[in-house]
Amino acid sequence: MNTTTHTLIIGGGFAGATLAQELAKSNISTTLIDRKDYFEVTMATLRNVADFSKVKDTPRIRYADFLSGEFIQGSLVELTENSALLDNGERLTFQQAIIATGSSYPSFSVAKSNHAFTLNERNEELKDASLALAKAKSVLVIGAGAVGVELAGDIAYSHPNIKVTLADSSSTVLSSYSENTQRKATKQLQALGVNIQTNRYYQQQDKVYIDKHTGDQLNADITYVAVGVKANSDFMKPQLSQCITEQGFIKVDADFQVTGTTSLWAVGDVADLQDLKLAAAAIPQGKELAANLIAKQQGKKTKAHKPMPEMGLIPIGQKKGVAQIPIFGAVTWKPLINFKNKDLLIGYVFKGLGIKH
Ligand SMILES: Cc1cc2nc3c(=O)[nH]c(=O)nc-3n(C[C@H](O)[C@H](O)[C@H](O)COP(=O)(O)OP(=O)(O)OC[C@H]3O[C@@H](n4cnc5c(N)ncnc54)[C@H](O)[C@@H]3O)c2cc1C
Repeated sequence: MNTTTHTLIIGGGFAGATLAQELAKSNISTTLIDRKDYFEVTMATLRNVADFSKVKDTPRIRYADFLSGEFIQGSLVELTENSALLDNGERLTFQQAIIATGSSYPSFSVAKSNHAFTLNERNEELKDASLALAKAKSVLVIGAGAVGVELAGDIAYSHPNIKVTLADSSSTVLSSYSENTQRKATKQLQALGVNIQTNRYYQQQDKVYIDKHTGDQLNADITYVAVGVKANSDFMKPQLSQCITEQGFIKVDADFQVTGTTSLWAVGDVADLQDLKLAAAAIPQGKELAANLIAKQQGKKTKAHKPMPEMGLIPIGQKKGVAQIPIFGAVTWKPLINFKNKDLLIGYVFKGLGIKH
C-alpha cells in the first residue's frame, strides 16, 4: 500500500507529539507514525515500578485519544528523502518529514518499553515489574546517572526492606553533574539506605554480576541495567547513513534540518544537538521547529536553535531530591522538588499537549 502525506512526523514522544499539536494550532495537517499506540510521560515510569499505586496508569494515553492530526501505528524500517517504509510493507510518501524517534534503553525495558506496543501491554508490563519488585529482597541498579539514581532512591523509599545497591563505573554518582549535586544526591541516597558502589564495572556471567576490577560478585534478586542509551535511527542506515554520526545521532543544522537534505528535519534525543537528552529539551525543540515550519510556510524568517542551559531535577524517594539549575547550582528547595514529586510532571506535560488530566 502507498499513502501520500504533506508533513510526516516519525515518533510521537515529547518532541514529535508537541510538534504535531503545535502545527495543528496553525491548521497544518500532519500524519504521525509511532511503533506504539500510546504516548508516555517517561518521568513517571520509575515510580510505576517502585510503587505502581502512586500514579497507576495515568502517565500514558493513546494517541487516538488526544492527537489532533492523523495517527498511524507502525515501525519505520527505511527512510529516504521522500518516503518512509513501515514494517508492514506500507510506504508513505511525503513533502517533508520530521524525525523524532528519540532513544531507547535496549537493556532496560521498564524505563522505555522495547516490547509493549499497546497501552494495555505497557500498563501490564509496568504492573508486573512492580509486583516482581515487591517480592524481591535485594536489587542491583547498574548505572548511577539520573535514571539509576532516581530508580535506586524510589525503590529504597517505597521498599525499606529491600537491600538496594547502586553501582557505577565512575568514581561518583551523577558523574556528569556538578560536585555539589553529586554530594547532595549521595547523602540523600545513603539516608535511604542505598549501598553506593563506585568504580565498579559489573558484567553479567550466567546469573551473577561480577566486577571486572575486583572480581566481587553480586547476585541480587533483580538487576536493572540503567546504562546504554541508544539513538533510534537504524532506519537511516540503508539510504541515509551519511546523515548519522558514529553513535547513530542524526546530524542537523541550527534549524534542525538534517544535514545535506532538503525535506528532512530531526528533533529530540535522536538529533545530534548539544542539548542534554531530556524531555525538558525535546519539548521546546518540538515547539521551535513547529514555529520555524510555520514561518517557512508564510515566507517569514526562521530562528536558529540555541542549546538549553544544563539542568536537571532528580527525585530521590517520594519526598526529596536534588535539582541542578543555572545560576543557583545544586539546590534541594522543597517547592521545586515537590513540583516534580507530586505527579512526576504528568499534569504539566499533558497540559502542554492540550490533554485534560
Ligand atoms: C526513566 C526515565 C526518566 C526520565 N526522566 C526525565 C526527567 O525527569 N526529565 C527530563 O527532562 N527527561 C527525562 N527523561 C528523558 C526523556 O524521557 C527523553 O529525553 C525524552 O523521552 C526524549 O524525547 P523524544 O521525543 O526525543 O523521544 P522519545 O520520548 O524517545 O520518543 C520517541 C518516539 O519514537 C518512537 N519510535 C522510535 N523508533 C521508531 C520507529 N523506528 N518507528 C516508529 N516509531 C519509532 C517511540 O516509540 C517513541 O514514542 C527520562 C527518561 C527515562 C527513560
